[in-house]
Amino acid sequence: MFTRTKTSGKHLSRALSTRASTVLQSLGLPTSGELAGVYDGQWKGSGEVMESRCPATGEVLANVRTASPQELHETIEKSRAAYRQFRNVPAPRRGEILRQIREELAAKRDNLGALVSLEMGKIKTEGVGEVQEFVDICDYAVGLSRMMNGRVVASERPGHVIYEVPNPLGVVGVLSAFNFPVAVYGWNLALSLAAGNATVWKPSPTTPLCSIAVSKIIAGVLERNNIPGAVASLVTGDKETGKDLVKSRDVELVSFTGSEAVGRNVGEKVASRFGKVILELGGNNASIVMPDADLSLAIPAVFFGAVGTAGQRCTSTRRLYLHRKVAPEVLERLQKLYKSVIPGDPLAADTLLGPLHTRSAIKTYLTAVDYLRSSGAEILTGGSKYSEEALAPGNFVQPTIAIPKSPEPKDRIWSTETFAPVLNVAIFDELEQAIEWNNNVPQGLSSSLWTRDLRHLGKWMGPSGSDAGIVNVNVGTSGAEIGAAFGGNKSTGWGRESGGDSWKQYVRWSACTVNYSDAAPLAQGVNFAA
Ligand code: NAD
Repeated sequence: MFTRTKTSGKHLSRALSTRASTVLQSLGLPTSGELAGVYDGQWKGSGEVMESRCPATGEVLANVRTASPQELHETIEKSRAAYRQFRNVPAPRRGEILRQIREELAAKRDNLGALVSLEMGKIKTEGVGEVQEFVDICDYAVGLSRMMNGRVVASERPGHVIYEVPNPLGVVGVLSAFNFPVAVYGWNLALSLAAGNATVWKPSPTTPLCSIAVSKIIAGVLERNNIPGAVASLVTGDKETGKDLVKSRDVELVSFTGSEAVGRNVGEKVASRFGKVILELGGNNASIVMPDADLSLAIPAVFFGAVGTAGQRCTSTRRLYLHRKVAPEVLERLQKLYKSVIPGDPLAADTLLGPLHTRSAIKTYLTAVDYLRSSGAEILTGGSKYSEEALAPGNFVQPTIAIPKSPEPKDRIWSTETFAPVLNVAIFDELEQAIEWNNNVPQGLSSSLWTRDLRHLGKWMGPSGSDAGIVNVNVGTSGAEIGAAFGGNKSTGWGRESGGDSWKQYVRWSACTVNYSDAAPLAQGVNFAA
């Protein structure tokens, strides 16, 4: 499956496998030489060289020239200039540009989805699904471009009217995580562009190819429409590039997706210069299964939530709270499903489990499992790397189910997000107990209750229910649609992106009081006559 067929073409000096070169060529990405990792209307890059590595095979997919500090600075300046022009383009016209981007993305959905699989490691159907999410948010933003409405507010003064007007905001810095190398940018780009802003994208250092492929598609559309390319700039780079972008006073809004540790730092830095920030940070999501749940729905959903994307979604199911009455059956059926998982090439149609994204993630996984063992947990299945030789060059680990000794949410087993397929299970007797466990962790992204009882549903969704941003019923923790605002509470950062009212963060609100009368009374009846 992972045989590296060396290509003999003289241009393929990196001797990419045909598996990799087919994907790169389908998107017009060069298969030899260095790739330019900066776009601000022109492609360039004179910073450090960064490697893109396939997590399934270890193959180096590309060498990318990242942004030097000077180039980052110039890119931000160009994006500011582009914004000044773009903010005057009527919103429905901006929507038309988004519609064209949507068409291009949809036409390349399969190829781009394959690139996500190749570079990030998620299985192909999830890679394609991620591109579909970008297509969906473009559709949404096209509609939005005709509906970003302000309000007319009643004034207390005769002959006066107050308007709340959404205006374009400026430059939006988008810093994204490795696990959604396309969709997270899509959520931000679509709303930001509809709102009349310019964006500067700093993707994860380990997924530069996805960002270059996406930026090429968008650049093509902008250039065809005579819009400055710096409306959608790209700066590849490491955390130093991220830090410089975050501290720039020329960036009005920083939309950051990543870990809690980095997000805390980013939040503080942006607040210290009075910038706007959206934080989409780590999740630590629980599913609760009640005795009246339809187990034929709940078990596959927990399986997908915990094993899908090899446990590397912010919404992955990491905690499973089972009612005592159903616990034995759920655990037995879940283990059967886990045993059926065959790890392999994420590009192969029948693979359900791809690799972890990096070598260092294997260490994180093994450390978490070691701690489980040493603290007296029962490991029901999994608990180590795969030993098959064919998988050795990749970062493959066994999906794991454990029953920790204590269900105490303050224990680090329960309170930290391990970004790997480890599912911890605890057994409860009363729903209130399970809700308390669900809530007593620092994070608050996604949560899911399995029940057919309306009374449970009311409790779960109400004031004493789940305190997460996503509160599902008979739907797993993982896999949100774009229509609702997406995001989490508490240490997940309180950010909201995508649907709902999220667009309101990408604009500058102007409260405009207009006097149409021949008198100029003061508000609240204040008299200041000389
Ligand atoms: P990460 O925090 O290591 O990196 C995220 C981005 O921040 C990268 O682009 C990185 O280069 C940059 N960065 C690193 N240090 C920086 C600094 N000091 N200043 C500015 N930028 C810096 O995260 P990751 O490992 O790529 O992604 C996994 C994490 O992202 C998980 O915790 C996951 O839950 C979270 N995530 C959250 C959501 C969500 O919507 N809540 C979505 C996807 C991923």
